[in-house]
Amino acid sequence: MKCMYCYATMIRQSAPFQITRPHYHVTLESIPAWTCSQCGEVYFETPEVEAIQNLIELLEVQSQVLRKAA
Ligand SMILES: [Zn+2]
Repeated sequence: MKCMYCYATMIRQSAPFQITRPHYHVTLESIPAWTCSQCGEVYFETPEVEAIQNLIELLEVQSQVLRKAA
């Protein structure tokens, strides 16, 4: 697998992932990912992307409840 930016070799390791929303911040410390050995670009594969999307979806729904209570 080659980096789409610099065409260097991608290494299977892990990377952090962060999102910031108005009512919460999420930091996942270490997700399996492909990382470029040269420029540091990170790619997540489909299972990881789907898990992150599911997590955010749950957070969106559950945080609605917490917002009402505040
Ligand atoms: Zn690269």
